[in-house]
Amino acid sequence: MKKKHEQLLSEILTHLGEDRSRYYHAVSPPVIQTSNFAFKDTASFRAAFLDERAHHLYTRGNNPTTGILRQKIAALENTEDALVFASGAAAMACAVLANVSSGDHVICVENPYSWTHKLVSRMLSRFGVSGTFVKGDDVDEIVKIIRPETKVLILESPNSITFGIQDLPECGRLCQERGIISIVDNSYASPLFQNPALYGIDIVMHTCSKYLNGHSDVVAGALCGSKAMMDRIFYSEFMTLGPALAPHDANLVIRGIRTLELRMNRVFETGLKVARFLQDHPRVERVIHPFLPDFPQYDLAKKQMSGTGGLFSFILKATSKEEVNRMVDGLQCFLMAVSWGGHESLVLPFSIFHDIPGRENPVYPYNLIRLYTGLEDPDYLIDDLAQALNRH
Ligand SMILES: *Cc1c(COP(=O)(O)O)cnc(C)c1O
Repeated sequence: MKKKHEQLLSEILTHLGEDRSRYYHAVSPPVIQTSNFAFKDTASFRAAFLDERAHHLYTRGNNPTTGILRQKIAALENTEDALVFASGAAAMACAVLANVSSGDHVICVENPYSWTHKLVSRMLSRFGVSGTFVKGDDVDEIVKIIRPETKVLILESPNSITFGIQDLPECGRLCQERGIISIVDNSYASPLFQNPALYGIDIVMHTCSKYLNGHSDVVAGALCGSKAMMDRIFYSEFMTLGPALAPHDANLVIRGIRTLELRMNRVFETGLKVARFLQDHPRVERVIHPFLPDFPQYDLAKKQMSGTGGLFSFILKATSKEEVNRMVDGLQCFLMAVSWGGHESLVLPFSIFHDIPGRENPVYPYNLIRLYTGLEDPDYLIDDLAQALNRH
């Protein structure tokens, strides 16, 4: 049977955190749709104020429905505790803000998720916190830019467009030696295929909008770490900025997480099959997928991840933006959209970011196309790609 750390994966997804005797033995937990909680006497009311983390006082802090989700996500990442947020972006912002003060410095891997980039490049500087971006594929390069005031290292491994990877055990060790807080955006691999806390990473961040929910109907996020770190974030950013996840959305993510293992294994297999088809196609210059042997960091990818999910990119042989657009417009089964991790296959062509007035030097070439393969039959997706590629 498949174990997740000390617990059975099936146990976490199906039972952990659920106390059915408290709600009529209902199989699905109720949505405890309440803002506040009443107390039977002054002593219990006072006790809740003294330790809000351990009590249900007000839903901006704790709520029983979000509590079930927190326990499952913490167990999946093998951390003591987790907090859930109204978005992944809120989770990342709170993780960073909780660990810096004016005068501090953060290091961030280059070209991270766009709003992580904005946080480091635009927002932190308003509060006297400086940031440096680093390529991330060479730990020695990270060591070189560490300053005495460096407090946080923000990683995203793999990146969700280039799939660039950082050596997580090396980065974890480095940060522990230097007293730097390490944060990893683990959204790409999901907790099923990579667990950064096992490599000494302090805070594991997820967007639950992608694989954890898996149905493209909720925006949510999570942070996983030690009880002390989660306490610290709870009593500062979590309670003051108020990014709590609504109980109804938490319940939808609990519903989605039941099938995490099924979905991840399916999209991983489909993604590789579709990637191999593209690799052999004469109109494709290169496929960028961390589990294909020609990926530059293939060995490291295999070492620290046990799978990849359904996201990868490819470079189309094309001499103009229009040629790329024609191919993408010819796809019938891939929806054209941002995001990923749901049931539906998606395509994101980087040609749309070119020639935008006021935005010079797009980061990625116009012939880069990102695909997400969902839960459909792989041959259904391959047939669609074949007809679109063969059209020109
Ligand atoms: C989507 C995404 C986020 C942000 O999550 P939201 O839930 O949309 O706020 C962060 N990191 C990665 C890698 C993502 O793909």
